[in-house]
Amino acid sequence: MKTLLGLLTLLPALAFASPFNIENIAPGVYVHHGEHKDLAEHYGGDICNLSFIVGSKGVAVIDTGGSPSVGAKLRKEIRKVTQLPILYVIQTHVHPDHAMGSAAFKQDKPTFVGHSKLANEMALRKEAYLRNQNVWIDADAKGTELIPPDLSVETTHDLDLGDRTLHLTAHPIAHSPSDLSVQDSASKILWTGDLLFIERTPSVDGDIASWLNVIEQLRAEKSPRIVPGHGPVTTKGDVALDDEKRYLTVLLSDVRAAIKRGDSMEQTIDTAAQSEKGKWVLFDSTNRRNVARVFPVLEWE
Ligand SMILES: [Zn+2]
Repeated sequence: MKTLLGLLTLLPALAFASPFNIENIAPGVYVHHGEHKDLAEHYGGDICNLSFIVGSKGVAVIDTGGSPSVGAKLRKEIRKVTQLPILYVIQTHVHPDHAMGSAAFKQDKPTFVGHSKLANEMALRKEAYLRNQNVWIDADAKGTELIPPDLSVETTHDLDLGDRTLHLTAHPIAHSPSDLSVQDSASKILWTGDLLFIERTPSVDGDIASWLNVIEQLRAEKSPRIVPGHGPVTTKGDVALDDEKRYLTVLLSDVRAAIKRGDSMEQTIDTAAQSEKGKWVLFDSTNRRNVARVFPVLEWE
């Protein structure tokens, strides 16, 4: 009877325990997909794509999640696959959902890698991010750190994993001021970080016009497969880049037109890019934030 009761109390926990999904998309290449949730109170830290690549010499991690506990789950999956050393932890940009799980990898003494602007961006945002972390992540916020890169990439840089090389490119301000993309020599897979959103509404924390240029640079890579910052892995990179380009172009031109008409920012928040509604997840909240971010800048054009 006692065991039965014990089992019954365990059942709900089992039913709600969501396994940490891992997709093996190419030899030695693994991706975890987070959920499309807003980065808001109690979001839990697991909303973007986290990857690892295993070479003959060791492992490189691309993004670590929004908390050390999410980072630890990723690390556990790596250890199920290989005991090779974790040599590199690449942080694609400064945003908390991508970079705040990095403390989980300190024990491996990897080289932390990022854009040459990443350290400065982390310093500027550290206080606010760590303060918000308690509300975003609750108890799992404990131990969160922003870890600036040991290796800063100004233009391009190659990381040697033995039988494969990761080619890193630091981009001018686009989604954020610190975007780094990664291409694997063995699989030709391209990781864009948040330079590419699939399904989820692209969020702007940089410069739209410059981001549109970077989209064309990513397209020129002609990568057979892309791992975006959020959303599924795709073999149709052109389609995904076109979708994102369309949203950003509409957003930019709608906000410019509203300013020309003399509309207020409050009005524009409700009207800009509404033709894109229904095409993206988390549209209302993200689009509103984008307008609020872009409007004051474009007012001074
Ligand atoms: Zn981001």
